[in-house]
Amino acid sequence: MGIRVKVDKFNEILKAISKDYKVFAPVVQKGKNTFSETDLIAYKEVKSIEKIEFNKKAQYSSKEAVMPITQTLFYFTEENYTEPKLDSKKVLVFLRSCDIHAFKRTDEIFLKNGLMDNYYKVLRDKIKFVLMGCEKSFDNCFCVSMGTNTTEDYQMYVKPSGDEVLMDIKDEELKKIVMAFEDDNLTMDDNFNLEGNLAIEEVKPEFVKENSVEVKISQGIDKSLFSHEMWKEYDERCIACGRCNFACPTCTCFTMQDIFYKDNKNAGERRRVWASCQIEGYTDMAGGHIFRKANGDRMRFKVMHKIYDFEKRFGYHMCVGCGRCDDICPQYISLSNCINKINHVVGELK
Ligand code: SF4
Ligand code: SF4
Repeated sequence: MGIRVKVDKFNEILKAISKDYKVFAPVVQKGKNTFSETDLIAYKEVKSIEKIEFNKKAQYSSKEAVMPITQTLFYFTEENYTEPKLDSKKVLVFLRSCDIHAFKRTDEIFLKNGLMDNYYKVLRDKIKFVLMGCEKSFDNCFCVSMGTNTTEDYQMYVKPSGDEVLMDIKDEELKKIVMAFEDDNLTMDDNFNLEGNLAIEEVKPEFVKENSVEVKISQGIDKSLFSHEMWKEYDERCIACGRCNFACPTCTCFTMQDIFYKDNKNAGERRRVWASCQIEGYTDMAGGHIFRKANGDRMRFKVMHKIYDFEKRFGYHMCVGCGRCDDICPQYISLSNCINKINHVVGELK
């Protein structure tokens, strides 16, 4: 159902939705980025549409909604354990098409990869997607090459348009909340100027059809690529900071920590915390063995997971082409360049 509404009315609708939902969206956080005087665009709870950043890409993804950076799984004493209470509210997340596709990947990992992760599932079951269209491609995006530039998998679409907001609502519960604002006196002139609260009209999401960055994933990858010298370049260039993993909407690795309270050493909590396959210590084993010591080996592992290994198991690629890893790397390492380099190297190896 397509609807056009004034911004003020949309904010009233958002307020009504917020009675049952927490609403998360990309927000500009002044001066909060890594370098001084630079802004961070990351996910936060919002109460009005003016707070939502529609025109720039969020530097970090929305994955915190289902994978908190630090998540207490349970509290323990010597005899008992209890799980933390869950917030009863459901969750609405504003996402671009590539990020909705990213949720499909994290669902595979946590729900369909042998075991079902209940901690993920309880958070995931609460989530509904609000699609944010893309008027144009952002720097480093290659969603078209990855086939993630369009989606029908959303419960509501929202687009600001001057002093109005366009919506396409598929979800019955959200429709009911929105339609409660319908005004009996609604009139619309020939230019679609609103006199009432809501105007019903066709609304179609905007999707990009091309990016300036294109990748071609080689179909001929075999074992010889894994020991190829191309990875040595990253021994020097990558500083193993892990930022690429933390910004990526499809990276799901975590580590476990048991925290013991100072005043009672037999009580504490078990937490899971985001981890990164690029940083030192990630593959350390008991006894001292390290699987991937060199930074180039770690880069190879990450890249192969994104464009080779995941596809072998699930039938499509893990990377959604959001370009956040390229945006955030302090060493200007580009995943899209690396993918194209692989294509070139595999061609040479044949
Ligand atoms: S690997 Fe990079 S481009 Fe691909 S989904 Fe992750 S952050 Fe986005
Ligand atoms: S962000 Fe760049 S430098 Fe940091 S770990 Fe990733 S590839 Fe290496």
